[in-house]
Amino acid sequence: MTDTDNTQTDSAPRDFIREQINDDLVAGRHDAVVTRFPPEPNGYLHIGHAKSICLNFGVAAEFDGVCNLRFDDTNPAREDETYIRAIQEDVHWLGFDWGERLFFASDNFEQLYEWARHLIEQGLAYVDDLSADEIREYRGTLTEPGRPSPYRDREPAENLDLFEQMRAGAFEDGAKVLRAKIDMTSGNINLRDPVLYRILRAPHPRTGDAWCIYPTYDFAHGQTDAIEHITHSLCTLEFEDHRPLYDWLIENLPVPARPRQYEFGRLNLGHTVLSKRRLIQLVEDGHVAGWDDPRMPTVSGLRRRGVPPAAIRDFIGRLGITKSDGLVEMSYLENTIREHLNPTAERRMAVLDPIKLVIENYHEGETEELEALNNPTDENAGTRMIPFGRELWVERDDFMEDPPKKFRRLAIGQEVRLRFAYFVTCTDVIKDDDGNVVELRCTYDPETKGGDAPDGRKVRGTIHWVSAADAISAEVRLYDYLFAAEEPGKEREWIEDLNPASLEVRTDCYLEPALAAAENVVQFERLGYFAPDPESTPGALVFNRTVGLRDSWAKARG
Ligand code: ATP
Ligand code: MG
Repeated sequence: MTDTDNTQTDSAPRDFIREQINDDLVAGRHDAVVTRFPPEPNGYLHIGHAKSICLNFGVAAEFDGVCNLRFDDTNPAREDETYIRAIQEDVHWLGFDWGERLFFASDNFEQLYEWARHLIEQGLAYVDDLSADEIREYRGTLTEPGRPSPYRDREPAENLDLFEQMRAGAFEDGAKVLRAKIDMTSGNINLRDPVLYRILRAPHPRTGDAWCIYPTYDFAHGQTDAIEHITHSLCTLEFEDHRPLYDWLIENLPVPARPRQYEFGRLNLGHTVLSKRRLIQLVEDGHVAGWDDPRMPTVSGLRRRGVPPAAIRDFIGRLGITKSDGLVEMSYLENTIREHLNPTAERRMAVLDPIKLVIENYHEGETEELEALNNPTDENAGTRMIPFGRELWVERDDFMEDPPKKFRRLAIGQEVRLRFAYFVTCTDVIKDDDGNVVELRCTYDPETKGGDAPDGRKVRGTIHWVSAADAISAEVRLYDYLFAAEEPGKEREWIEDLNPASLEVRTDCYLEPALAAAENVVQFERLGYFAPDPESTPGALVFNRTVGLRDSWAKARG
């Protein structure tokens, strides 16, 4: 291989897109690959977009090519500057960089207008006065051919004049459109004289009020691809039927390059929704706290939840690129997240539903520090000291008054290990007036320091704890699937499938003191992985559960 050889010959390409690119480079159809990720700035990115990002930036990197970040900003009615900024932040966070190659479809408005005029001059486009409803009616159906608009045979000169007036603002919004003149009887409805321009008075985030006509997606996308010299325009399957139109426009316009479109299956994820329209509704109607609510499938939501970007890339890489849409189980994503966090997240102790445990034979006022492993899977993670004393907090459900035989944790007369500390035996409980257990009384065996008995005796279980005198309090937010149904909307209105228990806030949790300074995701021993929330302050700590230690959904509800 030479330095400039960017083909992949050492191993078989992983999917049909990489195969295509490889073939094109080997055959010399292109010297270098240029792709683009083309978000419309009308919402935040979600994990489905992450698939497109990983694919476009991924193949560009693998074949020594480049990938553009291009905002497809042709519909100002729904677009906003905040989205433009958020999308850039999210792409960077996912680990990809477009360098200088940041583009906006709107930068080409003048060129696109010129090309529309070119089509008119060639007799390949006309100004139509039909309303949107009439156009739909004339278009026909899958089984019926369309009918020509009465304005279809306007002369080029008249069309040019009307189109110029459209631009100059002579007509009301929606009064006229520019349509390609292709074939009203085509079996492909996209070829039945598709709309190329519509009149719309809305301030554009970048061009302000310079324009009152805007190109449609179909007219802008392929031509922008050509301007940017995109070689492989990768999009999702719903655009397959648009490809003949994409090619028709490229063939009939004096564009500087001949990009080609390839379609791949979109990512669908269980127990959530990945349609921007629905995500916007969740935000606007207050079903979630915002685009970055940790229950959202958005990139910013996943980030706030504590998901490492590498886990997202890995998840997408494992799914691969295919020619069909699939539904992926949320538990598959969660497993990948666990795999990434297990070797990296430091262990800490936290009690989320506290009950007091008092060690009666531990001297009052005495304290000590015990050594705890930061990560048993990583020798280099080291240890830390944790304070221990006579009064501890333990998890309420680690005690049972009438335990079944298999119960391995605290019960009267049963000995357990306190993680990194001592063996304790529960001797008695204290109850309130209603008969609820409010305190556990125990004795400890001083010989078992560190968690092992010199006489070799075993205990059935190990529980976590924090020292009551030293504990710091925190709010912990426990997240569950946003939708109870795997496929929201399948059985009823999608919004009715929201999981009413998707967020549980625990306000009186106790954490070991080291967690005051936590900046990264940690594992709360026996509970799961938790990330400090951006809202967390030293005086009011807040942690988000990234993911539990195992898949509890399947067990509880499956
Ligand atoms: P909507 O949800 O309203 O249909 P969109 O997902 O098409 O919007 P865009 O901003 O146009 O939003 O998408 C940018 C790119 O991301 C497109 O190339 C699109 O094909 C791709 N994309 C969007 N959703 C998915 C998905 N679920 N899986 C894979 N790629 C996706
Ligand atoms: Mg789209």
